[in-house]
Amino acid sequence: MRNRGSIDAWLRTSVSRRTFLGGLALGSVAPTRLSGALASARDLRFQTSPFTLGVASGDPTSEGVVLWTRLAPDPLHGGGMPPVDVEVTWLMATDERMAKVARRGRTVARAEWAHSVHVDADGLEPARWYWYQFRVGNELSPVGRTRTLPRDGAEIDRLRFAFASCQNYEMGYFTAYQHAAAEDLDVMFHLGDYIYESAGMPGRVRSHGGPELTTLADYRSRYAAYKTDPDLQAAHAAFPWIVVSDDHEVDNNYAAERSERNDPVDAFLARRAAAYQAYYEHMPLGRSSRPKGPSLRLYRRFSFGSLASFFVLDTRQFRTDQPCGDGARAPCPAVFDPHATLLGQRQERWLIDGLARSRAGWNVLPQQVMMAPVDGGPGSETRYAMDQWAGYAAARRRLLEFIGTRRPSNSVVLTGDSHSNWVNDLKVEAADETSPVVATELVGTSISSGGDGFDGRDVFSSVAAKNPFVKFYNAQRGYVSCEITPKEMRAHYRVLDYVTDRGAPRTTRAVFVVEDGRPGAQQVEGT
Ligand code: FE
Ligand code: CA
Repeated sequence: MRNRGSIDAWLRTSVSRRTFLGGLALGSVAPTRLSGALASARDLRFQTSPFTLGVASGDPTSEGVVLWTRLAPDPLHGGGMPPVDVEVTWLMATDERMAKVARRGRTVARAEWAHSVHVDADGLEPARWYWYQFRVGNELSPVGRTRTLPRDGAEIDRLRFAFASCQNYEMGYFTAYQHAAAEDLDVMFHLGDYIYESAGMPGRVRSHGGPELTTLADYRSRYAAYKTDPDLQAAHAAFPWIVVSDDHEVDNNYAAERSERNDPVDAFLARRAAAYQAYYEHMPLGRSSRPKGPSLRLYRRFSFGSLASFFVLDTRQFRTDQPCGDGARAPCPAVFDPHATLLGQRQERWLIDGLARSRAGWNVLPQQVMMAPVDGGPGSETRYAMDQWAGYAAARRRLLEFIGTRRPSNSVVLTGDSHSNWVNDLKVEAADETSPVVATELVGTSISSGGDGFDGRDVFSSVAAKNPFVKFYNAQRGYVSCEITPKEMRAHYRVLDYVTDRGAPRTTRAVFVVEDGRPGAQQVEGT
């Protein structure tokens, strides 16, 4: 808690005080209130908007949704807020002009949490659109739109969503989000690499600045840089997001408590705690996802009536270390270690139990790394990317054997990470053509990571020759837009020709359909 003295000191020294008219309106604030370190909304007069990072919503239920913003009048220099907790009011309405008010309330943007705001709004009606807005002092936020889930077990006939991942700010513009925001979607899934932790590099499309991230202040500044992007803000404001992180929110290819460079565990867990805190501070995650030290609960389930259940998985926080060394390697014995895991025991049991009991027509698993074991070795050599499920053969087999035996209805895996599009048949014995297809994998490409990308037709023919379970490959940038009905799931692979310049139009590179009761996707458009 700060006292009056420290606020005065902040007003004298902060580079950001110019963002307030006279700082806090001190004349109108009683010292006793300041010693309580809470500035009420009417006491604040901002010179520039504190809503520079936009608004967002997420983790919907049938009665509620999480509303998010962060007060940051000077986003790239620590945020620019005084070191006091600040009261924020919020409003939800059933119309975009915010006239028909449905819910309203007050919350506190805590200095300790970078003045982020997470409202667990409740008392809402199922399966309907709402609009929301925040106010602090004399400032109103932009209006966001969000949607609740249908009631449990409700029979709905259509769900539209998209999934995206991997948005390296330096390597390209987020034009894909501008196109996604214009689509009629109920929800967006983000599968990780929302930021990249690497040091800023000269000569890129734009700069995310700074050294490789290790401290809380570093991670916060990086999120702030990314979240100033107008296309990203537009997509957040257009529909709720369900987010999960991958490696680059913390450290490339980390595995639980092991960093890429095998730093001492204590040091890495301190870094992971900073990274998870900054992630939470910038995402529309509810109270149950607030991190405790280096722990963050991200695996969770969302059900869209009886039509579809989504089991969001975290394949980073609980995994055993990658086997056989980094990158693509010939499989060593550790690949087949039955104790190796990507999900950890608890999450794996949660998933298996959930799938066993699910009565949803579609069971969708949004997660990070590719599940199909693609052999990328040259000629007759076998090489697997050891960071993917291929490196964790026993864990992969356990899950796919369960799905093949117990047959939860229509299992579809959604994957990020690889910066390329894939469609894969999932089998227990991937290399055996007679092994039945038990599930379908749809892999989304990156929003911008890797730069402009390329058409993958040539690569596809050589990959598919060696890996007949691969049905599609492409390496342009974009996202995947899906529609689920009781009869089918339809996946539109939206791509952009370039991201190193603004304004790329959107095209649909391919459309794949998974029919109800028939694992594996069939291509219906594109070549
Ligand atoms: Fe990535
Ligand atoms: Ca990744």
